[in-house]
Amino acid sequence: MTLTEIMKKHGIQAAGIPFGSCRLTRGYKLRSVGFEPRSVYFGLIPYYTRECDLPRSVSAYAVSKDYHLFIEETGALIEKEAKEAFPGAGFAVFGDSSPFDERDGAARAGLGVIGRNGMLITEKYSSYVFIFEIVSDVPPDREPVEPGRCPGCGRCAAACPFGMTGENCLSAITQKKGGLDEKEKETVLRYGSVWGCDICQEVCPYTAAAKKAGTIYTDIPFFTGTALRFPDEKTLADSDDFAQRAYSWRPKDVILRNIRLFEEHGTSPRANPDEGSGGREAPETNT
Ligand code: SF4
Ligand code: SF4
Repeated sequence: MTLTEIMKKHGIQAAGIPFGSCRLTRGYKLRSVGFEPRSVYFGLIPYYTRECDLPRSVSAYAVSKDYHLFIEETGALIEKEAKEAFPGAGFAVFGDSSPFDERDGAARAGLGVIGRNGMLITEKYSSYVFIFEIVSDVPPDREPVEPGRCPGCGRCAAACPFGMTGENCLSAITQKKGGLDEKEKETVLRYGSVWGCDICQEVCPYTAAAKKAGTIYTDIPFFTGTALRFPDEKTLADSDDFAQRAYSWRPKDVILRNIRLFEEHGTSPRANPDEGSGGREAPETNT
């Protein structure tokens, strides 16, 4: 069995390219691997569930339990199976805190293109994937390609609350510690999210196509069985559940502050008021 076949068994689409063709961003993370890296297998973990199509107050990636837990469990399992399939070979799994520019690497592995919104975009899942990788001394299974680019239709920039100018980001505002200023509060209230922002992904034509084809939906049980679309004071009081949610990387006060903001204004959060377009007005800074 090949490494990509092992990953496929776990619902992960993967491809391996030569180590030397990957862009290192934190090379020091490789110091402890204990072997000479020869290949990097980039894997796509689709996380978009049917629940993400329903009303929700959080970004799609935060609807199900935290993917770090999935990587922890499944990464260890894949590593074990890989060691059985390739006796004596070295494997090191990296998720999130990666030694590489993961989007660039996954694009070089031919798994998708780089979108104007900065995301890796795939035909099957659009941008609703987590990327992780396995560094190994087994050979790669393909030659790298020059990273492709999306067609640049501009819908993401037109729909972004900040025109994708890089000046600010709703996702960053919802995750910011401390208080929000009046303008930030207004933005959170207007776009209805208590955690994250999917606008530049929702409006992308790749997303519409992947939904139409039905390929966007993950069938990984970890994601399909753990949805929570409207975290509130009650669900957040469950410390065990909170610890397994993506928003627990910040103190609980951060998401609570956002939830209370809606309560104070007598409105309900809804991050995806109108599936597809988001039902939002385009900002004046459209490009
Ligand atoms: S919305 Fe258009 S420009 Fe933006 S990432 Fe998608 S294809 Fe590219
Ligand atoms: S996540 Fe939201 S605010 Fe941030 S760039 Fe995308 S559309 Fe703009």
